[in-house]
Amino acid sequence: MLENPYVFKIQRYSIHDGPGIRTTLFFQGCPLSCHWCHNPESQAKPLKTDAEDMDRVAADLMEEIQKDLIFYDDSGGGVTFSGGEPLCQPQLLFRLLDQCREKEIHTCVDTSGYGDTKALLKAAKKAELILYDIKLVDEKAHKKYTGKSIALVLDNLKQLSRQKAAVRLRFPLIPQVTDTDENIGRVIAFLKENTIYRDIHILPFHRAGEGKYQSLNIKNYMEDIQPPSEERVLKVKKQFGSRGFSVTIGG
Ligand code: SF4
Repeated sequence: MLENPYVFKIQRYSIHDGPGIRTTLFFQGCPLSCHWCHNPESQAKPLKTDAEDMDRVAADLMEEIQKDLIFYDDSGGGVTFSGGEPLCQPQLLFRLLDQCREKEIHTCVDTSGYGDTKALLKAAKKAELILYDIKLVDEKAHKKYTGKSIALVLDNLKQLSRQKAAVRLRFPLIPQVTDTDENIGRVIAFLKENTIYRDIHILPFHRAGEGKYQSLNIKNYMEDIQPPSEERVLKVKKQFGSRGFSVTIGG
């Protein structure tokens, strides 16, 4: 891959970012700063370039994506645009989604939901599946743990639901943050009242990426936090399941 300011990493043979075996492109730039972020290096905004440069970047990335075609075909996989926040670079995202569609490559967009509504709805029409994180519904808690208001994230999800977009919800299970009976109850109530979505993937917190905090000299709020126990994960699975959700652990 050529150097570019927009995608800082490509991960091949990924099995946690949507269906089948996938190639995941990590976009640079994220408006949130979640305490548990595994890619804190992705949060800084990239420098802007012109449209011609964007075309060059898209062409180069398409070459990379197509190297893995055989794995997509055999596993029902494809490409996932993740980050960072892919909605921060809508022009590049749309170019890649269009070119993947032309080549019949399955696409997922992995978003925090904190992005421009028009761009999100457009991406949902161009992609096969949106992977959407729902973490917290409490405004104060969302601001405290991610740095931004929850209103846009909740409203964007409602809009996707109205559009009947294909969405896979993901619930990051973060001890002491999202993993409280109260928060889980409120997430369930919000989803039932406001969306058509009844499938949810629970993503238990893990400590991968913690070394990055030290090397970047950023405060690691999760330093003393351990991943949730298997027992706790199963309890949360039950909590969603008993309210009519189909629950998967992981991806
Ligand atoms: S939304 Fe994702 S990339 Fe952005 S800060 Fe949160 S965990 Fe990190």
